[in-house]
Amino acid sequence: MAKKTSQSKICNDVDETMIPEDCTTDHDENFGDSFDLAPKKNDKPSFKYQSVVRKRDERNKLDAQTCAQCEEYFSDLSPRKRAEKIRNVCRHRHVFAPPKSPEHFWEIGIPDTLECKRRGYIRDEEDFSEEELSRLRERRRRYRRRRSDDVEK
Ligand SMILES: [Zn+2]
Repeated sequence: MAKKTSQSKICNDVDETMIPEDCTTDHDENFGDSFDLAPKKNDKPSFKYQSVVRKRDERNKLDAQTCAQCEEYFSDLSPRKRAEKIRNVCRHRHVFAPPKSPEHFWEIGIPDTLECKRRGYIRDEEDFSEEELSRLRERRRRYRRRRSDDVEK
């Protein structure tokens, strides 16, 4: 009841019976002229979000995920022991876990040629199949034909 009296101090013309019991938001002066708007009861968003969860017991309720470094660190344990360790120790706890970064996402700079070839960024002509090669040759032929047409004009 103390809450309702504090609300009625803010806006005198509001009928107290119109304010729901579980309403916690403070109302501004023009609340009285918008009675057709129902106050929001559920403030939880309908989409996935990132939030900070504090307090150890609150965090322990959340599921623990592992990052690549954690996976490597716990890799020598047996699967059962590993799962138990991750559940008790791991600090990656989210209400909604964000997607993991793609491989090499956080590497700075351009990798050397050998590494590029290994990852498949660069391909030698020997690596192409016969079908891909014929498609490439046709593309080159069309390009050269168009260039020679442009030069004649
Ligand atoms: Zn980790």
